[in-house]
Amino acid sequence: MQDVLLNNTKSIFRAYDIRGIVNETITPALITLLGKAIGSAAQEQGEKTIITARDGRLSGPLLIKALHQGLQDSGCDVIDIGQVPSPVLYFATRTLNSSSGVMLTASHNPANYNGLKIILAGKSLSENMITALYTRIQEGSFKLGKGGYKEIDIQEGYLNRITKDIYLERCLRVVVDCGNGIAGVLAPKLLRRLGCEVIELFCEVDGHFPHHHPDPSVPENLNDLIHAVKHYKADLGLALDGDGDRLGVVTDQGEIIWPDRQLMLYAKDILSRNSGALIIYDVKSTGHLAKFIKEKGGCSLMWKTGHSIIKSKLEETNALLAGEMSGHIFFKERWYGFDDGLYTAARLLEILAKENQTSSEVFAALPNGINTPELKLAIPEEEKFSFMESFQNEVEFPNSSISKIDGIRVEFDDGWGLVRASNTSPYLILRFEANTNEALKRIQILFGNALLARNPRFKLPF
Ligand SMILES: [Zn+2]
Repeated sequence: MQDVLLNNTKSIFRAYDIRGIVNETITPALITLLGKAIGSAAQEQGEKTIITARDGRLSGPLLIKALHQGLQDSGCDVIDIGQVPSPVLYFATRTLNSSSGVMLTASHNPANYNGLKIILAGKSLSENMITALYTRIQEGSFKLGKGGYKEIDIQEGYLNRITKDIYLERCLRVVVDCGNGIAGVLAPKLLRRLGCEVIELFCEVDGHFPHHHPDPSVPENLNDLIHAVKHYKADLGLALDGDGDRLGVVTDQGEIIWPDRQLMLYAKDILSRNSGALIIYDVKSTGHLAKFIKEKGGCSLMWKTGHSIIKSKLEETNALLAGEMSGHIFFKERWYGFDDGLYTAARLLEILAKENQTSSEVFAALPNGINTPELKLAIPEEEKFSFMESFQNEVEFPNSSISKIDGIRVEFDDGWGLVRASNTSPYLILRFEANTNEALKRIQILFGNALLARNPRFKLPF
């Protein structure tokens, strides 16, 4: 039975979460098996209650029932907090009487996707622990029982926690684009309670995503927001991703501020109160961060990409802040250290409200380089990690310093280049940054030649 259900589903067990296409790789029967596996694993760690939530996807009502069934059949009690953003589920695991939770979401993926983000005993599941769920289902090693079920509404508790923490010194006019994702249930409410004048864009939850995908890391998805910010002469534009754990930012002038430069502003603010604090960023982030953090009196650490991986590094190192180019920002100062697009928005507004300058002026004062967005180079899924391993071992870049913590990042005096294997899709990910256009071109050519020398069929994205 399990084998039949698991057939061709290995691909849904990804590096940081579980995700697939509904009724192809993600079925109610498989979600029930996952519920049993998660419930069994939780009990082995001494947790008997699991908190659940879901986003606004059309498959949500059916799949959350299947999940509850599996969790309860393993003997776990379920606390259902309803339709809320992922960070509200994370908040629940810090404030209710269980530190385990499951979020039914496929974040920014198209409407026909769904999946699970899992926290067990306070730890976000990634890599080995996700594979262990697959093995457990294969072996059918489940606990058996009859767990209970109750519903709790913690939205007010969440909003109160933020509004107690954040104070805006002046009223800001803000456009918020939730892309019809689940952040729409809370984002406008939160911003109004903080004292903002709010213009809503696509804040009604709609699992068809009729306007654009709720993914602020793709520039086209920010076009409506940029247009509205200019039209309404707003101070700032905010975009939440499908499950509200990532934030996109647009200035009053309509300029997109990528998360690695947002991080500079948060770092400066935190370091003004916590001299010497450690701040973590991922390998895709700007090279200006390290110098900037040092100048502001902090320590920095570059780490592997991946929200679960960054989250555990934050816990391990006691850093006060971490951020990823993808838009996951983790505040440990005054907050819990999980990635939360709504709380991040509140912190950004707090900082901007203290300034007499406009948001574009505030960001213009931060260092910037000439850089590419994240570039994708197609490679067969089964080859990407072995290619990366031999590339890391063989390639030579004279007059540079090389970091191999995640793929290979090569730093020159005037810029850097990165190649790493995506953990979630059949691509190598590349990014480049330099002080001048000439230097950017030179670094890209060095990387291009090295890649093509090993595989002449590569179609370079630059
Ligand atoms: Zn997300």
